[in-house]
Formats: sequence, structure tokens, C-alpha cells
Amino acid sequence: MDKVIYLDNNATTKVADEVIREMEPFFSKLYGNPSSMHFFGGQVQSHINKAREKVAALLGCLPEEIIFTSCGTESDSTAIYSALRSFPEKKHIVTTAVEHPAILNLCKTLEGQGYRVTYLKVDENGMINLDELKSAVTNETAIVSIMWANNETGVIFPVNEAAKIAKEKGALFHTDAVQAAGKIKMDLKNSSIDMLSISGHKLHAPKGIGALYVRKGTLFTPFLTGGHQEKGRRAGTENTPYILGLGKAAELAVNNMDKENRYVASLRDRLEKGLTSLIKNTRINGKASPRLPNTTNISFEYVEGESILLFLSEKGICASSGSACTSGSLEPSHVLMSMKVPMTFAHGSVRFSFSVYNTEEEVDYVLKEMPAIIDRLREISPFADGKPLFGMDACENKHH
Ligand code: PLP
Repeated sequence: MDKVIYLDNNATTKVADEVIREMEPFFSKLYGNPSSMHFFGGQVQSHINKAREKVAALLGCLPEEIIFTSCGTESDSTAIYSALRSFPEKKHIVTTAVEHPAILNLCKTLEGQGYRVTYLKVDENGMINLDELKSAVTNETAIVSIMWANNETGVIFPVNEAAKIAKEKGALFHTDAVQAAGKIKMDLKNSSIDMLSISGHKLHAPKGIGALYVRKGTLFTPFLTGGHQEKGRRAGTENTPYILGLGKAAELAVNNMDKENRYVASLRDRLEKGLTSLIKNTRINGKASPRLPNTTNISFEYVEGESILLFLSEKGICASSGSACTSGSLEPSHVLMSMKVPMTFAHGSVRFSFSVYNTEEEVDYVLKEMPAIIDRLREISPFADGKPLFGMDACENKHH
């Protein structure tokens, strides 16, 4: 399809041209192994150091506190396993019910291995309760892991306050900041956060590069052991071009964050205002909470989110739904379920997530196409007249 209106930037982002230019020489010219004794490797190492400084500047920490990894998922796993292996007597983890599967499925696995996990609930605005956190953390708790911003709704959690609570109770604090990095100003040196995960492909670097911040002095056990790369904290020959790419993306984010945030928020607000005024029975999930400027999660009552996505896709519009219908589950997104979004709305939710590469014309195109799509789906919806909601048939039929 010629026309691509890409409004799915929380899934992944376009690699910035500046990032591609930064990476290119490290494939073709500066391809030495940074661990080599000779000058050809050594010069690559100095570029990696510069990239590490740029990522540290984005997070407000020291360069030596940054470990490069292969992705956000690896960073998350490294943080949790490190805490559990460093404090083997502690068998309890605290997290939230709305984390990304990178944390949730890891916790499920750990439960099967004898660990106890507390999943903090969220309220109808998608917000956690810090009092609940206070009572959940005990001297058995190895680590508290709370995402900085939710990938589905964009709701921002008070991680600095949560980290203080964990610290007071003697637990480590990790945050999955994969969606927050590049969108929220971070000052880790003045926080109680011990570990933080980011992923390159959410901020215009390529897929397959991530980083983990580990506060200086934090007891740390590596996830990958082998060579002495990353000061023995993450074995494996450095992915030099991608590390350089992440460094460049971090630099661009530092320089442009305020301007870009204002811009994407204006597009997001234009879309929300337009859709809620053009289409009846809509709701914006998490709107009453602080949210990422680029994200909106909108529910259209009595329609199925995945059908909306298919119709949007036919028009060249890329968005996403939190629904797990395609995976064979009948449940709507675990995030919207935790927020107790009514079932008639929860099934019909669509996430639009913007980047600086989007335009007002693209928003207006969605506003032009969307009312007819929702009308059409509501006309054929077997649920709009109050019949029971979304049984097996409803989900299966859509995918034949
Ligand atoms: N955590 C959050 C909040 C995410 O949104 C994602 C990706 O969607 C991840 C972790 C996983 O990151 P990666 O794809 O780099 O493994």
C-alpha cells in the first residue's frame, strides 16, 4: 500500500536518518572488535564510550552505570534476575498488574519456581496506589519493579516516590522505562531508582539494542556470563553499530524532547477531540491520569477493537489494540481489565501512538475515515442491542 499513516509508535518507531548515518561507518569501516588490543579495535571502543555518555545524559546518570543489552526484554530480565540472585534469601517480588509481558510473563515463570509475586492493582484511571505498595513490600522483598509509563494507555506512574518506598523497606527498585525514555525527563542521580530498562526501537534507534541502568554500588549479578565485555556485566561482543545508533537517538531525544513532546501532544489532542466529538459512546482510557504526550487509548462502545484495526489498515492507517483476541483469548487487554473499563467498551479499544514524523493531515485523515468505520461496525454488531457480549463466536469469526 502506498499510503502509510503510522500511528503505532509505541510498538516501534522509524529509525531516524541521523541514527542511520551515525551507524553506517561501524558496519563498513570501523568494524574492529572493541575488545581487541590493536588500534583498530581501540578506536571503536572510544566511540562506544561516547555513546554511553549520550545514553547517560538522557537518563541523568553516570556513563559507567549504563550496560548495553540486546533489547528492553533483556534489560528487564537482567534486572529482576540480578536482584533475585544477589539476594537469594529474599523470595518476594512486587510489580503491577499492568506491566508489559516482558515483566508479567517473567514473574509468572518465577512463581512457578517458588517465588511469591504481588501484583499491585490500578484504579479506573490506570493509576497505582502508593499506600498499597507500602503495605506490599516486606523484608522478604528482593525487588519492586514498576513501569514508568504504560505502553497501552500512556499512564505515567510515580516511580520516584515508589522507589523511595522500596528503598525505605530495604528492597531494590527497578523500572521498565521502555515507553518513558525520550519522552519524560529523567534525573536518576537524584532518585532512589536502582535499575532502569530502555529499548532503542521505541526512540528512533533500531530494534535489537537496549540498555540497563544499574546504580553504582548496587549488588549486581550478570544475566549473560562469558567474555568480559561491559565490565563483566553483560558478556557478548558489543553490537557496535547499534550501540552508536542508540547513543545518537539518545542525543536527539535530549536535544528535542520538549519541542517534540509539545508537537506530539498537539496531534494526540487533536485526534482525541475530533474522535470524541464525531463519534458517540467513546471513552479515553487513563485520561484523568498523567499520560505520555504521544499516546491515546480510545474505546468505541459495542464494536470490536480488532475489527476497527482491520478497517483502518485497509485505509493505510496503522494503530493497535490491546485486545488479546488474536492470541485465542477472549479477554480484552489485561491493562483495561485492571482498570475495570466496562466490557462493552474494553473490547472496542484502539491505541494510537504518535511520533515526531506524524502530521496534522494524517490526524485529519483518521478523523475523516473513522466515523464511517465505527458506524458500519455498529450496524453489524450483534452486541449493540444489548445482547450478551463477545462469546467465542465473536472472537473466532473475525479471524477466519
Ligand atoms: N516494556 C515495555 C513497556 C514495552 O512497551 C516493550 C515493548 O513493547 C518492552 C518492554 C519490550 O522491549 P523490547 O521489544 O526491546 O524487548
